[in-house]
Amino acid sequence: MRGKALKSLRDAIECEKLAGVDAIYISSGKKTEERKMTFDDLKESARKCRECELWETRTNVVFGEGARSAELMFVGEAPGRDEDLQGKPFVGRAGQLLTKIIEAIGLKREDVFIGNVLKCRPPENRNPLPSEIAKCSPYLLAQIKFIKPKVICALGKFAAQTLLNTETPISKLRGVFYDFHGVKLMPTYHPAYLLRNPNEKKAVWEDMKLVAKELGVKIPDKA
Ligand code: URA
Repeated sequence: MRGKALKSLRDAIECEKLAGVDAIYISSGKKTEERKMTFDDLKESARKCRECELWETRTNVVFGEGARSAELMFVGEAPGRDEDLQGKPFVGRAGQLLTKIIEAIGLKREDVFIGNVLKCRPPENRNPLPSEIAKCSPYLLAQIKFIKPKVICALGKFAAQTLLNTETPISKLRGVFYDFHGVKLMPTYHPAYLLRNPNEKKAVWEDMKLVAKELGVKIPDKA
């Protein structure tokens, strides 16, 4: 029964897509009393989610964290081992690099919201399956709807291709803004890719300068 309710909630979010949704209502109790779904309700739904098989191997659901009204939202691929253990996004090596990138444009981690396409870790960090992305993306769309960021920075192929609904490679997508339901979206390389290909840090820096300019953030001189 709960699974059914959750499915209809997820279907509702998906059907409304992002643009037209003004409010999402949930039933609170046995009676037909309804109230607006809150961000915490969404988090709780994700915490209990069993829509795909990843719930069987996860330690924690990694919902995402940061400012509820962040102007800048980062979207990564999926939690890795460290994230799964701690229940927090981007806390491993790639996460440390992401923190440096955020700080390089004069912001702090707490100023932004950091989430992922998938909320649960794929075993052995394998790539997300299309079916997992399809089941999990309503959570991401609802997060964006709640947070209403000015700019979304899509980190890597899976985030960029999912949000832009394209198969164009990230190397071709990065470096320019796209419109995502009225939100500016900048695709750039994933920090884990930068750890393997440090020469591409220059490209990410170019992208981040555009993001900072769009946000009206002054880049500190030392950057
Ligand atoms: N890589 C991601 O895409 N997300 C995380 O949270 C950590 C590593």
